[in-house]
Amino acid sequence: MSTDTTLKPVGALLTEPDLGLHPPTDPRIISLGPSLRADYVIVGSGLTGGTIARFLADAGRDVIVLERRAHLGGNVHDHKHPSGVRIHTYGPHYFRTGSEEIWEFVNRFASFYKYEAIVKSQVDGRIENWPIAASYIRRSVGKDWKPSFTGTPTNFEEASLAMMPELVYRKFVKGYSEKQWGVKATELSADLARRFDVREDDEPRLMRHKYQGIPREGYAEFTKSILSGIPVVLHFDYLKHRDRIKARKLLVFTGPIDEFFGYDMGRLRYRGQRREHSYLAGHDLVQPCGQVNNPDVSNGPYIRTLEWKHMMPPEEIPHIKGTVLTREYTYTPENPNHQEYPFPDRQNQQLYQQYRARAEAIPGLLVCGRLGEYRYYDMDQAIGRAMMLARQLLAQEPMRAACAD
Ligand SMILES: Cc1cc2nc3c(=O)[nH]c(=O)nc-3n(C[C@H](O)[C@H](O)[C@H](O)COP(=O)(O)OP(=O)(O)OC[C@H]3O[C@@H](n4cnc5c(N)ncnc54)[C@H](O)[C@@H]3O)c2cc1C
Repeated sequence: MSTDTTLKPVGALLTEPDLGLHPPTDPRIISLGPSLRADYVIVGSGLTGGTIARFLADAGRDVIVLERRAHLGGNVHDHKHPSGVRIHTYGPHYFRTGSEEIWEFVNRFASFYKYEAIVKSQVDGRIENWPIAASYIRRSVGKDWKPSFTGTPTNFEEASLAMMPELVYRKFVKGYSEKQWGVKATELSADLARRFDVREDDEPRLMRHKYQGIPREGYAEFTKSILSGIPVVLHFDYLKHRDRIKARKLLVFTGPIDEFFGYDMGRLRYRGQRREHSYLAGHDLVQPCGQVNNPDVSNGPYIRTLEWKHMMPPEEIPHIKGTVLTREYTYTPENPNHQEYPFPDRQNQQLYQQYRARAEAIPGLLVCGRLGEYRYYDMDQAIGRAMMLARQLLAQEPMRAACAD
C-alpha cells in the first residue's frame, strides 16, 4: 500500500456512468399505456417505496411502482468502473443495523459480506481517527480535558463544544460541518451533533452495530431483488403524468414533499454532492481506508475522498488493477434528483411541517421516506419505518377510504 496521503487525482477524470443502458429485468419492468389503475400506486423505488411495495405484494395486494430515474433503488445504487471497482453512485453506503428483523429482511434479497467502515480525518497533515479517538484528545489537549461549553446548547457549535475541547472542535468538526452545510456552524440545529460521538477509547470502527456489511453483488442487485416480481415503470415522473395513473386505495409518494405541492409555499433546502472520480492505473491502494475526511478548509474545498476498493469483498481486491478515488464537493442543488441531505435548521423544519399538515389532510395519500418526511434516514431506519407503515396499511386496509378518482 502506498503511504502517499496527498490524494492528488492523477488519472483521467471519469464522467458519471450512463445508468439508463441496462435497466434491470427481475422486477416486471412494464411500460405504461394511456392510463392505468392499481390498488396501491407507489411513487419511488428507493428503500422506502421498495420495502412498502414488497410487504404489500407479499400480502397479495395489487401494487405498482413508478420511478422517474433510469434505475431502481433510489440513492441506494452502485455501478462498476471498467477496472472492476464498484462505485456507490450516490456516495458511500455502509449498511448497519442492530435489528434482527431488519437484518433478516435484507438477507432475503442479498448476501452481505462483512464491512465495518473505518473513516479517518486529515488533520495537520496526519491521518487521524474519525470519530475522534480518546488518545488524540489526550495527546493534543492533555488527559484532564474538559468540554468547552456548559449549559443547554442552542445550536450545533455549542452542542459540539459540549462534547469536546475547542481546539479539537476546530480541527475536526467546524470546517467539515461548514463545508457540508455551506453555513456557519452556529446556524445549524443542535440536534445534528447527535450524529457523531467522541470516543472514550480508540475504537476505529465508524459504527458499533451488531450487523454491518455490503451486499456481495452490489446495491443495484439488492434493490432490484426487493422488487422482484412487482410491476415497475421506469423513467416515469408521476408529478408530470398524474392523470395517467390512479390509485384505487392509496398513493404512496416517496419523492420530495414540497415538489408534490408544486413548491407553492416555498422550497425546502437540501445539500447535495458533486463527485469527481479519478482512476489511478498505477496504484494498488492509496488511502489507509475507504473514506478520508477533509475538514481543513485550507486543504481544498472537497469534503472527503473515497477509495472504493477498500469497500469491496476482500477476495476481489487483489484481482483489480489500479484504484478509483472520488472527491466529493457539497453544494445546494435545485434539481430534486440531486437532493441528498435535508437542511437541519428551524426555518426549513417549519416549512416542512406546513407541507406535512396538507399531505395528511388528503385522503388516500401517504407521503413518506427521506424526501417525503424531509428527514435523514440511514438505510436500516428507512427500511424499519417502511415496514411499520406497510404493517399499518395492511391492518387498516378494509377501513381505508378509496382514493378520489
Ligand atoms: C451521500 C449519502 C450517503 C449515505 N450513506 C449511508 C450509509 O452509509 N449508511 C446508511 O445506512 N444510509 C446512508 N444513506 C442514507 C440512504 O441513502 C437512505 O436511507 C435511503 O436512500 C432512503 O431511501 P428512500 O427510499 O427514503 O429515498 P430515495 O432513495 O431518495 O428514493 C426516492 C425515490 O423516489 C423517486 N422519485 C422521486 N420523485 C418521483 C416522482 N415524481 N416520480 C417517480 N419517482 C420519483 C426518486 O427517483 C428515488 O428513486 C446515505 C445518504 C446519502 C445522501
